[in-house]
Amino acid sequence: MKNKIYVVGMGPGKEEMMTQEAIYAMEQADVIIGYTVYLGLLGERFRDKELLSTPMRQETERCELCFAEAEKGKKVAMICSGDAGIYGMASLMYEIGKKYPDIELEVIPGITAANSGAAVLGAPLNHDFCVISLSDLLTPWEKIEKRLLAAAQGDFAIVLYNPSSHKRKDYLKRACDILLQEIEETRPCGYVENIGRENTMAATCTLKELRETQVNMFTTVFIGNSGSEIINGKLITKRGYQVERNTDICGNN
Ligand code: SAH
Repeated sequence: MKNKIYVVGMGPGKEEMMTQEAIYAMEQADVIIGYTVYLGLLGERFRDKELLSTPMRQETERCELCFAEAEKGKKVAMICSGDAGIYGMASLMYEIGKKYPDIELEVIPGITAANSGAAVLGAPLNHDFCVISLSDLLTPWEKIEKRLLAAAQGDFAIVLYNPSSHKRKDYLKRACDILLQEIEETRPCGYVENIGRENTMAATCTLKELRETQVNMFTTVFIGNSGSEIINGKLITKRGYQVERNTDICGNN
């Protein structure tokens, strides 16, 4: 039997938003490894597990720690917020895993911020969409700019991850300036902070207003496509169905 590491997407935060499979994987584990903030979000039921962490920016060390623990014969669950394969640790685990052919990896999917945030805002991603991270820690900013412009030119709805950090306070503004080269100022947008956690906050606005908005690193930003609308305070990107709006013509509702 190969030692196994579960690479678990825990969803945005609260247990109700984890899959049964994610909960099962963590219950099976002897040790749960993850960034401290995510370990802190785990409920009481995992308190008896050994919990191990490395600080932010020490992602490689965190992954190495998983393999070291698995080599000792422990069942390991490495947890990531949202989905582990969306700006998470899943790919790095496979890269490092090359050195450990006897350890098997299994990725357990989780609800990513694009999904959970979209649900809070309404239905902003109900047509083709692009997901772009504004973090230039691992991606050159020029490439991010190119992707933003291409997404705008393609009339995709757009989700922005990592819209801000302590060192990158003006990145959302810079991204909006690029989008505004292609997109009108009145384009409906929205953002959600602390999805599935305490103090969830959501707002809709125009692209011009988004440019002036200071968001934090626990925020996911949504930009509608050319057909998106704010309907009853919700950000909606339409599928394209014909909807009869005039009840008089219909006769009855
Ligand atoms: N693997 C994660 C993404 C990690 S990148 C996922 O699939 O969701 C970190 C970025 O994800 C944050 O900067 C933010 O843009 C977004 N994010 C993750 N969790 C969030 C939450 N609970 N509320 C709002 N945004 C979140």
